[in-house]
Amino acid sequence: MPNATGKSFDYILVGGGLQSGLMAMAIRHHQPEARLAIVERESQIAGNHTWSFHATDVPAKSSAWVAPLIESRWPSYQILVGGRKRSVNLEYFSTSSAHFASVISHTLQGSDCEILTNATATELTGNRVTLHDGRQLDAAVVFDNRGPSRVDMQSYTGGFQKFWGFEILLENDWPIANPIVMDDRIDQRDGFRFVYTLPLERRRVLVEDTRFSNSPSIDRDECLDKVQTYLSDRGCRHYKIVREESGVLPMPTGGPLPGSELPKLAGGYRGGWFHAATGYSFPMSIAVAEIVATTPVENMPAVLQVLANEHLGRAKFARFLNRLLFDLVKPKTRYQIFRRFYRVLDESRIARFYGHRFTRTDAFRIVVGIPPMGL
Ligand SMILES: Cc1cc2nc3c(=O)[nH]c(=O)nc-3n(C[C@H](O)[C@H](O)[C@H](O)COP(=O)(O)OP(=O)(O)OC[C@H]3O[C@@H](n4cnc5c(N)ncnc54)[C@H](O)[C@@H]3O)c2cc1C
Repeated sequence: MPNATGKSFDYILVGGGLQSGLMAMAIRHHQPEARLAIVERESQIAGNHTWSFHATDVPAKSSAWVAPLIESRWPSYQILVGGRKRSVNLEYFSTSSAHFASVISHTLQGSDCEILTNATATELTGNRVTLHDGRQLDAAVVFDNRGPSRVDMQSYTGGFQKFWGFEILLENDWPIANPIVMDDRIDQRDGFRFVYTLPLERRRVLVEDTRFSNSPSIDRDECLDKVQTYLSDRGCRHYKIVREESGVLPMPTGGPLPGSELPKLAGGYRGGWFHAATGYSFPMSIAVAEIVATTPVENMPAVLQVLANEHLGRAKFARFLNRLLFDLVKPKTRYQIFRRFYRVLDESRIARFYGHRFTRTDAFRIVVGIPPMGL
């Protein structure tokens, strides 16, 4: 039934970020006739990110609708930590916000779907969204995908993964063809610190100063200084910064678990669907999107609850790892956890860990032998 504004949909996805984009792709794939609306408060969807994920994070049943979102791919990546070097032979993907937004817009074009930008949702119920200007939209399903809630520092326990990335256009070719996901050959300050590089093209590279820190504050100029030193040490002196992105991702030791909002329908960070020990949400958001697109409305909370239950033990273990990292191991020795992780785990265990699919044996393998408290 259309409401006073005449807008009625099958799905309203509130927040035009990663989770809503994935849901839109999945819904269009499985139900091409469905009418959906994305409601985004900013002037464009998808924000300013580079989202990376492993090929193994994409289950076969979702690969057809995830494939168009993949902008860059590499057959493997490197890890350089604590004086050790490892090539991880797992296919690695990334997508920029610009690519992601253009695929979503293209996929929804010419259908009964709408992307509403500059539209802030002020009130959400199970079937209705009220916007800042009083407009109301109705739907059979309203999903709250508004991203992370503001961290309340009074009650928050845990650390942060924080980073500032610079997308660089070089005058010469970047010397390494594959990503370096962790390179700790950088001044260690403010927690465990490393550089992350994604060679997007021969002469275009994303270089991020990243750290696992107990504090959420980040200084852009200090990160730039470190990135410039890193580039110069690799013989890159002539370049132009064409884009920047930054993030401070919570790595909680407690707090909401996956599906914490159920039976209210909330996806992505808002619904607790993220990996507490990596800060990544791509893998779980794919799983949530697949369920939303293939499950009748009345069964959705129950089916999502089953998924949440599957993730519960892992989510608790990830929070335990954060406790180890931020509370029990001194910042100076944090690198040992990562060095050991990449020394003892084979590719299949690494893939399961990142995909939040790890087994009890994987978890055991990850912690046994980690430096004890106070080292
Ligand atoms: C810079 C950066 C890089 C990251 N890289 C990775 C990565 O490589 N891999 C990975 O798995 N994870 C990554 N993450 C972590 C996580 O996956 C992202 O934060 C992801 O975007 C979270 O998805 P989401 O849909 O929950 O929220 P978001 O993508 O943040 O989307 C929420 C959207 O809701 C909108 N919104 C909020 N309130 C309202 C409102 N009232 N009305 C309307 N719209 C509203 C926001 O403007 C935003 O567009 C990264 C995070 C950041 C910050």
